[in-house]
Amino acid sequence: MFGWAGKLLNIDLTTGTISRESIKEDILYSHLGGRGLGVYLMSDYHDLDPLDPEMPLIFAVGPLCGTSSPTSSRMSVISRSPLTGTIYDSSCGGLFAHKLKAAGLDAIMVTGKSNKPVYIQIDDDSAGIHDASTLWGKDTIETMSALMDKGSVAAIGPAGEQGVLFANIMVNASNSVGRGGLGAVMGSKNLKAIVVNGSHKVKLSDKDAFKKGQEDVMRLLKASPVIFGELGLREFGTPALVDLIKQRRIAPTENFRKTYFEGADSYSGPSLKSTFKAKKEGCFGCPIQCKKVDSCGRALPEYETASHFGALNKNSDIHSIVKSNELCNLLGMDTISMAATIAAYGEIKGDFFSPDGIVELIKETAGRKGEGKKLALGSARLCEMLGHPELSMSVKRLELPAYDPRGAYGMALAYVTSNRGGCHLRAYPIANEILRKPVATDRFSFSGKARIIKIAEDTNAVADSLEICKFAMLAASLEEYAQVLTGVTGMDFTAQDLLKIGERIVMDERRFNCENGFSGKDDMLPERFFTEGGSSGDGIEIKPIDKARFLEELQKYYKIRSLNEDGCPRNVE
Ligand code: SF4
Repeated sequence: MFGWAGKLLNIDLTTGTISRESIKEDILYSHLGGRGLGVYLMSDYHDLDPLDPEMPLIFAVGPLCGTSSPTSSRMSVISRSPLTGTIYDSSCGGLFAHKLKAAGLDAIMVTGKSNKPVYIQIDDDSAGIHDASTLWGKDTIETMSALMDKGSVAAIGPAGEQGVLFANIMVNASNSVGRGGLGAVMGSKNLKAIVVNGSHKVKLSDKDAFKKGQEDVMRLLKASPVIFGELGLREFGTPALVDLIKQRRIAPTENFRKTYFEGADSYSGPSLKSTFKAKKEGCFGCPIQCKKVDSCGRALPEYETASHFGALNKNSDIHSIVKSNELCNLLGMDTISMAATIAAYGEIKGDFFSPDGIVELIKETAGRKGEGKKLALGSARLCEMLGHPELSMSVKRLELPAYDPRGAYGMALAYVTSNRGGCHLRAYPIANEILRKPVATDRFSFSGKARIIKIAEDTNAVADSLEICKFAMLAASLEEYAQVLTGVTGMDFTAQDLLKIGERIVMDERRFNCENGFSGKDDMLPERFFTEGGSSGDGIEIKPIDKARFLEELQKYYKIRSLNEDGCPRNVE
């Protein structure tokens, strides 16, 4: 078999047993790897409580990992989210994926719970469970430093140990397995870290076909102004978006009360670059290198992080924003959910927190101390507890990222249809509505958006299963990556074949969610977006969303996906 290793490492932390098992070729062909393979492996477990010891935590790579295919050294971690209750996957970069594939594995599945803190060490043909008592309580950098001589490390920080519901798993210091709290799932197993150190090489089936596909992808990446342009991702990272989102008046401000923040200039891409002498960094082997670090190698915030610790909290202090990002990485917490939970708490209390106050709340949350005990539950539970459920700006209890849906109607729909809750990584209609790629759409209209979202969700499910970066998809398409995949595996894939696989993965996720009680009632935006306008000006009016029209387009989405009127697959009725 080319491309895939055909192997899964099963680790039961309760019994201490480890076994290498074969994965059938037809499963790999039909689910690709990464997210798709993880969703398949979750079939027998998806209705367990997220923190049940038997709940699997799956780390899975894709068939292109280990080759020089652009942006392919990524992996997904899959489980059920303790924050949202939905099936959950999160994609991340770093060297870990490459080393995992080089150990002859497509995936690791960890079940059970150790009776003491442990870490797992995986080498080419061996794997073992080792005592991690001395690492428990340490931050992610201390943990990485202690283990990095043994291989590439994925670890939790104190937040994962404490069960913070939006705790991350960190990979190689600054790559996050973020958003849905899979760090808390790892912590609940008493698993501090996984270290991998494979050395096998991945063989290609057809080098010429692979090279042609790879060259086609690179040509499109280099021709893309969004990626390689002078104001693009390679130059400024995702904070390149700050200016554009501000100008379009869709920057979530003061817990989404407003959509314009004058102080955003302080943390724009050019500001971060000049203030911190930003240097390029990125995932292993990636030609884009969109991540940015300061002169000491400290990771600088992504767009969502900068905007939410900034505008959403009415904070223009760039140093506190960078510090907040650093602390969340060290302690192992999701920056979007942390910032949004602090903003919701600020609105409930009647004023937003000072830059120093934000930093203190982050520390308290990771340790579940003081006010952090409440914040560690995320904004939805916090707001319910304090009698203001309407002030959690979340969908399915996942805090919304930094695009206000009142000025991007495709995003309004994508937030609610996402199987993992309010996020921008299932479908990213901002590409059409704001970046105008690959074709521009009217951002203040729902017309045609249901079909656009459906296709984007299926495409992104493929990207997350091939484990290619979604940024690459702003320039290249499934057609070029199908060529690359065919060259690697020797099996014929077309873009349409891949889209069918993506559709199957999205439907399996929706079925799992519906079997766990989710339905159309959960595909809903916070009421604020239907009753309050955003900040208008500069000839742009940000009105409340027309709820009837929104619901009409949602029904169209259900119909296009062959779901019932309650948003579930018909075989779940
Ligand atoms: S574009 Fe950025 S996030 Fe994507 S693979 Fe490259 S470095 Fe990683």
